[in-house]
Amino acid sequence: MATCGHEESFIESPPSLEIMVKNYPLIALNEEIDRSTPRCRLCDLTAATSRESAAVYPPPTFSSRIEDLQHHIALAEQLIAEGIRKEELEATLASIQKMLTDEIFATGNRMLEAWKEHWAIWGLGEGPEMPNVYLEEVVEEESRAATGNKVKAPLNIKGKASAKKAKRF
Ligand SMILES: [Zn+2]
Repeated sequence: MATCGHEESFIESPPSLEIMVKNYPLIALNEEIDRSTPRCRLCDLTAATSRESAAVYPPPTFSSRIEDLQHHIALAEQLIAEGIRKEELEATLASIQKMLTDEIFATGNRMLEAWKEHWAIWGLGEGPEMPNVYLEEVVEEESRAATGNKVKAPLNIKGKASAKKAKRF
């Protein structure tokens, strides 16, 4: 029995392997745990959310590379608009936008990775969107980036990450 002090309502037995295989045929399952032993779902959720935060805001700086790149792009666009270092900045803008697109993709993958352990026990339903949905969004972002429009992170970031996700510009 869980001894974390959370409410009884969070403590339940994970779905059986049969149910997991039936409902979530595409995810890797945790076959190590004893599924007849109740455990605290809230503790598992908290751990997954914390891994996700670390994926988006990695130590030691705990800053988001996506936000940093968005900041660089906004600054460059502003300077270009003002005619400051215009040619030089225009020449580098596309490569920074490419870096942003790549980083959004990489961060999304790290976020999915952060949730795999939770999904392996409880199945899907919490955490980021399913990978196929996510990949569609990334393709959309890439095509938008190619047209030179502003790129925004497609990430469904929760908790602490959500508060920090707010665009600076
Ligand atoms: Zn707990």
